[in-house]
Amino acid sequence: MSDCLFCKIVAGTIPSQKVYEDELILAFKDIHPARPVHVLVVPKKHITSLASATAEDAEVLGRMLVKANEIAVEQGSPGGFRVIINTGEIGQQEVPHLHMHIVGGPDPVGPML
Ligand code: 5GP
Ligand code: ZN
Repeated sequence: MSDCLFCKIVAGTIPSQKVYEDELILAFKDIHPARPVHVLVVPKKHITSLASATAEDAEVLGRMLVKANEIAVEQGSPGGFRVIINTGEIGQQEVPHLHMHIVGGPDPVGPML
């Protein structure tokens, strides 16, 4: 989608601090980190939200989860982390391209998102 913020980050037309990339997903630092470790993981393919994901998206969704620990450890949160996927208006999703927050660091628990 040409007017999608995270599609533009995937395409490189908007800069980001990339921390991981493969053929299916991109991970980059959140621009307003809520914790010392705050990474967003997105499918390279545009999926609007978890509410619009289908069985065809199972591989990319699985990749996002399977890579979470490696990314969290590499970014400095070796003792655990949280993953959050805000979905839709009620779920307070602000950017309409599916994304998984990885939040961690010294205090990964508590109100933040
Ligand atoms: P949501 O509320 O949709 O789950 O989270 C969207 C996240 O995207 C927010 O944490 C926000 O800080 C982050 N964000 C918004 N715009 C940008 C941007 O241009 N670059 C980066 N790296 N993060 C962004
Ligand atoms: Zn998109």
